Amino acid sequence: MSNALSRTAQEQLKHRAGAALANALKSGDIVAAFQPKVSLDTNEMVGMEALARWTSPEFGRVAPDVFIPLAEEQGLIGELTHAVLRDALSACAILRREAPGMTVAVNISPLLLTDKDLPDQIDSALREAGLPPQALVAEVTESHVIAPGARATLTALRRRGIGCSIDDFGTGHASLLSLMQMPFSELKIDRAFVAGCGRDRGAEMIVRATLGLAREMKLHVVAEGIETESTESMLRDLGCNTGQGYRYGRAMNTAGILASLKQPVAEMRYHA
Ligand code: C2E
Ligand code: CA
Ligand code: CA
Repeated sequence: MSNALSRTAQEQLKHRAGAALANALKSGDIVAAFQPKVSLDTNEMVGMEALARWTSPEFGRVAPDVFIPLAEEQGLIGELTHAVLRDALSACAILRREAPGMTVAVNISPLLLTDKDLPDQIDSALREAGLPPQALVAEVTESHVIAPGARATLTALRRRGIGCSIDDFGTGHASLLSLMQMPFSELKIDRAFVAGCGRDRGAEMIVRATLGLAREMKLHVVAEGIETESTESMLRDLGCNTGQGYRYGRAMNTAGILASLKQPVAEMRYHA
């Protein structure tokens, strides 16, 4: 009986949270924050990742790990992604006035990869922002890239010149063979392996092997979750192109990321 009651309570809470999320999307309360991606060769910021943020009047700050699955469950993920995409492209247009090669990455839920209209919708968002397709990277979590229909959507995005990135590489269940057949341009090494570099032989071996595989596949590589100088220099020595993580800054608003672009990486580290 008490179990049944608690299940009901959980359902009610989920229903309330879902309604709050739908309202937040209507009122523009879901916004993108931006985390820098830094070249490990030149120490310059070369791109950024857009991460969704929600501060609810009812629930306070809600973590993406909570509201993204909720958005997927409630059929709101398309609307949420387009809100983040709009923010991301308008921030990128501002940064490209200072740094013309700047790119922005947007996380694309696996559920959206089966939507045939997605490439055209992204096209019109790019046109509205006045950006070329090369300014955008679509990040797709490894565990889901083999969903039926995913390949066709990714191919359509790549044909347009949009970057496609395998996110959280090494943590999913996709077979290496199926990943190699996907039209990716970038691979992101998951932070669990990056953090283990220098401390855990297994994690370091996986990072080395991943870098070798990425070289063979001619993929650009981003190491996620770099927090310390020693991890950074180890990744650089191993031949990794790009880093992302608290060492260079947490996710911030457009003014913050614009200021980061203008300041030397050494000072960004000071604030990280
Ligand atoms: P992700 O795509 O792997 O994003 C990286 C996450 O790691 C972010 O968490 C970021 O704040 C965190 N992070 C970055 N550097 C460091 C570091 O040095 N150390 C540690 N400990 N963490 C670091 P966040 O913002 O909480 O996002 C969590 C996940 O939620 C994301 O993981 C992504 O899968 C999902 N997500 C966020 N925004 C969106 C979105 O707009 N759409 C979709 N579909 N998913 C999103
Ligand atoms: Ca990501
Ligand atoms: Ca990731």
